[in-house]
Amino acid sequence: MYAYVDGRFVDAAQPHLHLSTQGLQYGTAAFEGIRAYTSERSGRPAPFAAAAHFERLHRSCETLSIQLRESVEDLVALADELIERNRHGEDCYVRPVAYKTTFQPGARFGVRLRGVGHGIALTTVAMASRLGTPTRLGVSSFRRVSNASIPSGAKISGSYVAHALAVDECTALGYDDALLLTQQGRVAEASTSNIIVRHGEVISTPSLDQGILPGITRRLVLEFARRAGHEVLEREIELSELLAADEVLLVGTGVEISPVIEISRHRVGAGEIGHFAQRVVDWYHTLTRP
Ligand code: PMP
Repeated sequence: MYAYVDGRFVDAAQPHLHLSTQGLQYGTAAFEGIRAYTSERSGRPAPFAAAAHFERLHRSCETLSIQLRESVEDLVALADELIERNRHGEDCYVRPVAYKTTFQPGARFGVRLRGVGHGIALTTVAMASRLGTPTRLGVSSFRRVSNASIPSGAKISGSYVAHALAVDECTALGYDDALLLTQQGRVAEASTSNIIVRHGEVISTPSLDQGILPGITRRLVLEFARRAGHEVLEREIELSELLAADEVLLVGTGVEISPVIEISRHRVGAGEIGHFAQRVVDWYHTLTRP
C-alpha cells in the first residue's frame, strides 16, 4: 500500500515520523475522513465531497499555524491518485492528517505552535458502507471539549481524547456509540457524527454555536430537509428533547446516515428506522453513487 507523505508516494508500511513529532506528543494535528464510493457508472471508488473535506482541513490547519503547500485542488487530485495506486476496487476511506513535527532551528523547546515544522500524510483503507444501520446510543459522562478550549470548527486530533473516552465508556455498557453533551449539558454530537432530530414535520439540530463540528453531511442533510419542505431549526437542544423525538439520526462521513433507535435504554420513536430517516438514507445512497 502507498501513502502520500510530504510530496511523495511512499510505502505506507514504513515508518515516516520522528519520535519527537509534536502532533503525537501534544495532539497538535488536524485530520479528515473521506469516504470513496463505487457506482455502476464509475466502476471505481470516487471520493465523496472531497473538496469540502480538504477545505475544512485547510481551515483546521490555520488554527494550528500550518501552511499547507498543497492546495485544496492538489489534495483532491492526490486522494484520487492514492486510491488508484492502492488499487481499491470497492468502497474505501481516505485519511488525511496534517501534524506539527519538530522544532525549527533556533526555536525554543516547549509546547507551542510557532517555530514548529509540519507534515502531511494521506492513507487509504478498504471500508464498506454501513448506510442505514441503526445505532443504540449511550449518553457519556465525558463532555465535548468546548469551543473556548479548542476551536470546534477545526477537526483537531487532541480534542478526540474526550470522544475516545466517551466511546469506551458507552460501548463497555453495551451501546454502539456515545452521545457527548456540551459543557452546559445540552446536546452536542456523537463521537464522530452530528445529531438531527425530528419532531413532527420540524427538523432540529444543535447550532454551530453549541461548539460542534460543522459536519459536511449535516449541511447536506439540512439542505435536503429544507428542499423536502421541512422547517429546519439550528438551536440549543436539551437531552429530554431527543428522548421525546419522533426520530433521531446520526449523520457523518463514517456513520453516513444512521437512525438512533435507543438512547440510554430509552426507546426513540418507534424503535426502528423512521420514514424521514428512510428518505434520507435513499437520497444519500443516490447522492454518493452518481
Ligand atoms: N462530529 C464529529 C465529532 C466528527 O468527528 C465528525 C466526522 N468528521 C462529524 C461530526 C461529521 O462530520 P462530517 O459530516 O463532515 O464527516
